[in-house]
Amino acid sequence: MNAPKQRPEEFDIVIIGAGISGIGAARYIVEAFPGKRVVVLEGRDNIGGTWDLFKYPGIRSDSDLHTFGYEFKPWKDRAAIAEAPKILNYLREAVEENDLGGLIRLGHSVRRAEWSSADARWTIDMHTADGDKRITANWIFAGTGYYRYDEGYTPHFEGREDFAGDIIHPQHWPEGYDYSGKKVVVIGSGATAVTLIPSMLTGERAAAHVTMLQRTPTYVLPWPKVDSLALLYTRLFGERRGYALTRFNNIWMDRGVVKSLRTFPRLGRAIIRRVNKKSLPKGYDVDTHFNPPYDPWDQRLCLSPDGDFFAALRDGGASIVTDRITRFTESGIQLESGAHLDADVIVTATGLNVRLLGGIDLAVDGAPVNLADSVVYRGTLLSGIPNLAIAIGYTTSSWTLKVGILCRYFCNLVKHMDAFGYDSVAVEADPAMETRPVMDLSAGYAQRARESTPKQGTGMWQMSMSYPQDAKLLRGPLLDDALRFSSTTDESASSTAREAIRA
Ligand SMILES: Cc1cc2nc3c(=O)[nH]c(=O)nc-3n(C[C@H](O)[C@H](O)[C@H](O)COP(=O)(O)OP(=O)(O)OC[C@H]3O[C@@H](n4cnc5c(N)ncnc54)[C@H](O)[C@@H]3O)c2cc1C
Repeated sequence: MNAPKQRPEEFDIVIIGAGISGIGAARYIVEAFPGKRVVVLEGRDNIGGTWDLFKYPGIRSDSDLHTFGYEFKPWKDRAAIAEAPKILNYLREAVEENDLGGLIRLGHSVRRAEWSSADARWTIDMHTADGDKRITANWIFAGTGYYRYDEGYTPHFEGREDFAGDIIHPQHWPEGYDYSGKKVVVIGSGATAVTLIPSMLTGERAAAHVTMLQRTPTYVLPWPKVDSLALLYTRLFGERRGYALTRFNNIWMDRGVVKSLRTFPRLGRAIIRRVNKKSLPKGYDVDTHFNPPYDPWDQRLCLSPDGDFFAALRDGGASIVTDRITRFTESGIQLESGAHLDADVIVTATGLNVRLLGGIDLAVDGAPVNLADSVVYRGTLLSGIPNLAIAIGYTTSSWTLKVGILCRYFCNLVKHMDAFGYDSVAVEADPAMETRPVMDLSAGYAQRARESTPKQGTGMWQMSMSYPQDAKLLRGPLLDDALRFSSTTDESASSTAREAIRA
């Protein structure tokens, strides 16, 4: 990438990504620092990230929007589990209501960022439709999500080129694609498959039949689309207080459910099996098709709003096959069991390619950074990379709950630095600390990313997945010995900082 000729624009904080994390971060940061120069760089031509990218039928959340939405903006729709256009609309409103539009630069894809300790600044190179641009900033806040936008994950399927019909990955769904009257096989058992299948059987374009072909089952639970308690709270206490109460309620309920499932996995498994059995026709082979090898909540549970997925199975429009693929054939898929699945369309709901920090090449004082060498501190700072915070949310409950917490931590940290006159902070991890992947999940996408993502450790270096635990941490001391502050203008500041931490 060629360095642009004119003097780079200067900012205090650059937020990368205008998805739900980046927009939320912008709101917290602008509120905390009205005087700072802030910009949001978004590589795509629209805001919304995930909620603008995916176009497959039925694309929706699988969290309730009372916890997935922002703390500062009530979710007003009746449906607690919502389709992407509604989430996108909510994000547009958040931008408008908080006057963030002027900060967002669309079509600015960040390619490289280099930190200079001498200047306490990042030099950030972007690609735009008008050519390459460069800016500098004291801080980067990365709301870049956790997966590649340009390609979803598809394993190699023998004979793929022999198949005569269309093969579609949900991440690249052709808008308006007509599957009416077709036999569809969806490969995968995750949230995407569970969303797609009932959606492809409704409306004018309904498919003739949809088969979910899974190698490994997932936990799926019917869940009310409308949260009647939320409606009651809103009626009794008004929009804002009703939302806050619902959010509080759902956070603790979710925590309680997760804790119980983790403590008594066999009981959890038995309860889920019972619910599944009740939702399916008598004699349905629940033990083959709904019996994952892992414990409940080792991965996020798949929710089926108002049991739509189970209804599709009951009606006969959909079916599940648990088997392994031998190869694609001209007319479908040959299975290891010897059976053949006929198909006109194959949907590969086989997942995402995990990538943190949006594929940006990072360097610190001239040395390239390998993300896998860094350890995440308080879920947001990275060892060896000064003045960079990353938004990695929860993976077993609403992603955004964590992002709200770490945004507040970030603002408190920057306020502290401003008060003491520091312009940079780095975190140092004890090399002897035991580490494991930052996304420590059994899900395929997390497993595949082990070599390219940062690590987590113990104590403050642990990637907590618990909102109550994180909320407690946030209220605790802001500083500890891992933080190394410095100032390019005040020599005495660094040592003062260390003394302040110890005090
Ligand atoms: C289909 C689907 C459904 C999901 N449902 C849920 C759910 O119900 N609940 C839940 O908690 N989580 C869910 N998730 C996870 C979900 O992605 C996150 O919860 C959330 O949307 C992530 O928001 P984000 O802003 O952090 O990242 P994203 O939505 O991925 O947004 C990142 C933004 O950063 C931009 N960006 C990235 N790199 C660069 C760069 N180098 N330069 C400039 N811009 C860049 C991208 O273009 C994008 O706009 C779902 C994920 C998928 C794929």
